[in-house]
Amino acid sequence: MTVVEKNAQAGGRCSQVERDGHRFDVGPTLLVLPHIYEQEFAALGESLRKRLDLRRVDPTYRLVFDGGETLWLTSDLERMRDQLEALEPGSFRGLEAYLEEGRRHYGLAVDGLVRRPCSSAGEFFRPDILGLVISLKLLVRHYSHMRRFFRTPMLKAAFTFQDLYMGLSPFEAAATFSMMPFSELVHGVWYPRGGMYAVVGALEEIARGHGVEFAYGTPVDRILTDNGRASGVRLADGRRLAAEAVVANADLAYVYQHLLPPDRRARRLQALDYSCSALSFFWGVDRPYPQLGPHTLFLAEDYHGIFEAILRRRTLPEHPSVYVHAPARADASMAPPGQDTLIGIVPVGHLDSDGGQDWPELKARARQAVLGHLATIGVDDLSAHITFEISSGPIDWRDRLNLVNGSTHGLSHKLTQMAYLRPHNRHPRFRNLYFAGASTHPGTGVPTVLVSGRLAAERLAQDWGLP
Ligand SMILES: Cc1cc2nc3c(=O)[nH]c(=O)nc-3n(C[C@H](O)[C@H](O)[C@H](O)COP(=O)(O)OP(=O)(O)OC[C@H]3O[C@@H](n4cnc5c(N)ncnc54)[C@H](O)[C@@H]3O)c2cc1C
Repeated sequence: MTVVEKNAQAGGRCSQVERDGHRFDVGPTLLVLPHIYEQEFAALGESLRKRLDLRRVDPTYRLVFDGGETLWLTSDLERMRDQLEALEPGSFRGLEAYLEEGRRHYGLAVDGLVRRPCSSAGEFFRPDILGLVISLKLLVRHYSHMRRFFRTPMLKAAFTFQDLYMGLSPFEAAATFSMMPFSELVHGVWYPRGGMYAVVGALEEIARGHGVEFAYGTPVDRILTDNGRASGVRLADGRRLAAEAVVANADLAYVYQHLLPPDRRARRLQALDYSCSALSFFWGVDRPYPQLGPHTLFLAEDYHGIFEAILRRRTLPEHPSVYVHAPARADASMAPPGQDTLIGIVPVGHLDSDGGQDWPELKARARQAVLGHLATIGVDDLSAHITFEISSGPIDWRDRLNLVNGSTHGLSHKLTQMAYLRPHNRHPRFRNLYFAGASTHPGTGVPTVLVSGRLAAERLAQDWGLP
């Protein structure tokens, strides 16, 4: 098996940039759903905990609201009780009920939807499916459902913002996604020593141990097809690699639009709903900011307006929410001694086909929003201490990784783009062409993408009569 990768390094969205001793994870910063990682490493005959030095991050996030209120999300329930009761008397009971529902959703969704092969109607439409739709509250909107648990918009936001990881607004997402805050609080948010890129390093090492070869800086410009089958790939330099089977992991819509012969599926994919994009700032800083935890999230007050701006108007909200990651708080080796490494991420709309977005202006505003939010919690001298800045936006995501529309999470997870209705892990016509990645079943996020890879591999093994 040969992996052919366009860029100079493995990992794609989960790659890492190093400069002057500062290490920046380019995309993912949170190792969530740890049991899924464990199961996928076990499926490779490996132990996640032996391969990676994982540390639990607790409190997981510090949430900062516009009025200055702070909520530390933590598995320490006594501390949660004190904080919640101060924000909204009686709300701790709401949290207990919400976590109980999240536990049920997690249990049902992981086996019933995430790990379930969905390549054929027979695999998906088993007798339990109707019961799942109801038990998982797939037809109930997440945000409106929150009124059962909390009254204040602050707390409703604190336990639904994770929907954006699925490319969804909580005002449209299914209530199923309470499984995410449940898992973050109960199973934990983790950090591998060396950053999220350590996951990629471990997987590459395992693959090499099984004889897999890696060709970096090697873009594919065509998946070759012959007689209804994939016969290999043509590289950008004109070389051809013959193959008995091809697994495509690049963004699915891009594969259909650029690597396969033209067909109506490419147009249909373009018309689907895509997740948001992100404006990211990577800063080397010449002094540490110990008051910043690993994950700080500034949640803007106009919660509904934020999602409208990002997902419908495809722009930057007037007053955006901002996420700041300080990896050296979780692993000191991510910054040189006496310095800091900071990442600011601002969710923004994906690229519009009419090209009407003024990216330099939006980027400048997003940067100002990160600095402005940080100043409200006392980090008010950052500009003077930034030694270098790297940034990326939707155009970079598109050009560097071939992400259609620059959407950082691929196809969104709205109901009509989930499970059996999400693109399958095998091409419907070229039966030896398999798909893995965020825009395929089961979906976006590092652990779920691992599942997609295993489902594609299992399908391949089944087709080829392999054990
Ligand atoms: C800003 C951001 C924050 C995120 N935060 C989190 C998080 O905290 N936790 C989490 O679990 N997930 C997070 N995610 C989501 C997660 O990163 C993705 O779902 C996952 O990494 C996608 O993996 P993939 O293999 O589908 O795609 P990619 O990582 O995009 O991999 C596809 C690969 O294909 C290569 N490629 C493309 N075209 C070609 C070609 N023609 N020839 C050869 N190679 C090609 C690309 O270079 C790339 O390496 C985040 C993503 C972003 C962008």
